[in-house]
Amino acid sequence: RKDVGHISVGSKGFNDLIAGGIETQAITEVFGEFGSGKSQISHELAVTVQLPEELGGLDGDCVFVDTENTFRPERIKQIANGFELDLEDVLQRIHVARAFNSSHQILMVDKINELIQNGTNVKLVIVDSLMAHFRAEYVGRESLAVRQQKLNQHLHSLQQIANTYNVAVFITNQVQAKPDSFFGSPTKAIGGHVLGHASTYRIWLKKGLAGKRIARLVDSPHLPEGECVFKITNEGIVD
Ligand code: ATP
Repeated sequence: RKDVGHISVGSKGFNDLIAGGIETQAITEVFGEFGSGKSQISHELAVTVQLPEELGGLDGDCVFVDTENTFRPERIKQIANGFELDLEDVLQRIHVARAFNSSHQILMVDKINELIQNGTNVKLVIVDSLMAHFRAEYVGRESLAVRQQKLNQHLHSLQQIANTYNVAVFITNQVQAKPDSFFGSPTKAIGGHVLGHASTYRIWLKKGLAGKRIARLVDSPHLPEGECVFKITNEGIVD
């Protein structure tokens, strides 16, 4: 792969874990229980992608596909302040797309293609959360096959955007805290089968002591497994 870019997640330890930040031409999935920091990292990346390369960004815009109403401009403000960026500029470069159901979410990818073809320099697509609508709409064992097929299709078109336009795709996936609901292993988390094959990088987020968080890289084509500790602060993600 040529010209792969990286977007800083704010913390040095976290960036080191994933060889410099989240990659373009790849899908990075973070999964973890509620409050583990999935949306916080999404907000951080929506800002850092806009930074110049020497500061860990790609001088690009972000598309934030919001499925659960988690996008908070106030939070962007705090993070932008930490980088001494102008809030209005930063918000202008975050294209928030609310997806009302899974079909809408799938169609959104066409809109992202259009946006890019119309000249917007998108370098990051966030889907927070990938699975919420699919899980709510396809319940029961009998609908599992259809759900996985739709999800596969969705992930495939996201991967296509990543490859075609040298964009990073970042998806979040909520999983339960209890180990037995992982069906034995965190890599087989809900939706894990589909996601396990579709995402290039998988990062498991856990809550640690005293407000700390742990990120564990569990699946990567060429990087070793490993962990790092990070914190969520007013200014965003830090070591
Ligand atoms: P869910 O699956 O419920 O969406 P999530 O993994 O997306 O959960 P986040 O919303 O990313 O969780 O994380 C929420 C947590 O982030 C809060 O519980 C809080 O501990 C922490 N947090 C949020 N804002 C701040 C802040 N300004 N300063 C410090 N910590 C914060």
